[in-house]
Amino acid sequence: MKRYGIIGGTFDPIHYAHLYIAYEAKEQLNLDKVIFMPAGKQPLKVDNIITDSELRYEMVKAAIEPFKEFSISSYEIEKGGLSFTYETLEYFKGNSVGEEKELFFITGADCLFTIEKWKETKKIFSLATLVVFSRGGINRKEMIQRKQLIEEKYDGKIIFLDLKQLEISSTEIRSLVDRNKRIDFFVPPKVVDIIYEKGLYINKNKNL
Ligand code: ATP
Ligand code: MG
Repeated sequence: MKRYGIIGGTFDPIHYAHLYIAYEAKEQLNLDKVIFMPAGKQPLKVDNIITDSELRYEMVKAAIEPFKEFSISSYEIEKGGLSFTYETLEYFKGNSVGEEKELFFITGADCLFTIEKWKETKKIFSLATLVVFSRGGINRKEMIQRKQLIEEKYDGKIIFLDLKQLEISSTEIRSLVDRNKRIDFFVPPKVVDIIYEKGLYINKNKNL
């Protein structure tokens, strides 16, 4: 059975921590591939102004180019409307006839605190194992407590993976661009080029 990782996000913009957790998940869990899934509209971010999906897709595509086990899917963007993880997982579980897949949904630790607000949380856990990476601001003890609570409540499986923690967020990168600071340390060069060419994240402080 093939083992697929899926990493969902707004990717506004994609940054090195996204690539790093995808890579570590692939290595540590021996995944056949990792699929990047830029969200159309995220139900929990509907009030935020986010960059057009075409541009976010373009940035993810440019960022993953050097990694042959990474791919990108336009499923959520093309589906339109709100993106629901359970629907995406159902789609991937069933979309290629005859080939059974085990799915791993890759996230940062912040998701442990929002996943109960996602639609059909129980279904998500019946379709995939949740793979969680530590992230700044959330301590290990809190993570373990949430893991136990959620696993019991939703009959789910959560795996914690370790990595060198990277203190990066898209929110911070948008703020740096707006303040005319360099972002090369956090974002691959081709993504930096797209951000400057398209004039993204300037005068957008109200959205930070
Ligand atoms: P924003 O600040 O706009 O929310 P973000 O940096 O959190 O952006 P998302 O697109 O929201 O990026 O995240 C996609 C996934 O990557 C989420 O599961 C998130 O937890 C994870 N992630 C993002 N940055 C990190 C990081 N520095 N360490 C671990 N996980 C991360
Ligand atoms: Mg986020």
